[in-house]
Amino acid sequence: MKAAFAENAWPAVRDALKTSRNAVAILPCGATEAHGPHLPLNTDVIISETMAAHALPLLERRGYAATILPALAYMPAEYAQAFPGTVTVSAAAAKALMLDIAMSLKAQGFACLALANSHFDPANVAMLRETAEDIRKRGLPVAFPDFTRRKLAQTLTEEFQSGACHAGQYETSLIMAARPDLVDETGRLHLKDNPASLTDAFAKGARTFAQAGGPDAYFGYPRNACTAEGKESFRVMASALIDAIDIATSPDGQRN
Ligand SMILES: [Zn+2]
Repeated sequence: MKAAFAENAWPAVRDALKTSRNAVAILPCGATEAHGPHLPLNTDVIISETMAAHALPLLERRGYAATILPALAYMPAEYAQAFPGTVTVSAAAAKALMLDIAMSLKAQGFACLALANSHFDPANVAMLRETAEDIRKRGLPVAFPDFTRRKLAQTLTEEFQSGACHAGQYETSLIMAARPDLVDETGRLHLKDNPASLTDAFAKGARTFAQAGGPDAYFGYPRNACTAEGKESFRVMASALIDAIDIATSPDGQRN
């Protein structure tokens, strides 16, 4: 089975499901959303797909038949909706779509659905948590490394943990590592630091990026971004994804 699920002809999927008891489908969860004036709208799609791509060979080595589904590019993105280019959908619509995808994969014989998410809008994260739980209740193990939980957040960069982390140093470094052609380098180097913490603003009730102190849809320090940091973050995220898959597919799994 090819890494890119949709590039397979159907017999390749049939054969992989026949020969492996541990077939894992990774669903990259992104958004189409404003990411500062220097990063593309599909930043989260690229990050989630690349995280999955980093995990794939390691999963194969561990005996999984793993494949990467076409990404979810339309998800709840309420905080960024004032910016042209952002496409937001309701949590109910996203959840219904994900449940149907999961049940379709379960019916084919996939042993686990892994959610590779890098879109941290609170409405999206809440929806993913709830949806993961519902899919588990319907009998399909789900691996969902939730980087907004403290334990995993602590494995990522200082800026990520500060909450000033939308299109800042953390995400810009990831796109510089994955798709440098999509970064506006000149624009990036002219961006002022923006230490406003999105997570603090969420907690205080801000409902938009502007209210949270990000009038240009970025938070953090895009000027400090570098490819090496992006590569390291991908390594850490891929390893969290693999750990979550190990737990979800273990006999007493389903707890992560
Ligand atoms: Zn993002």
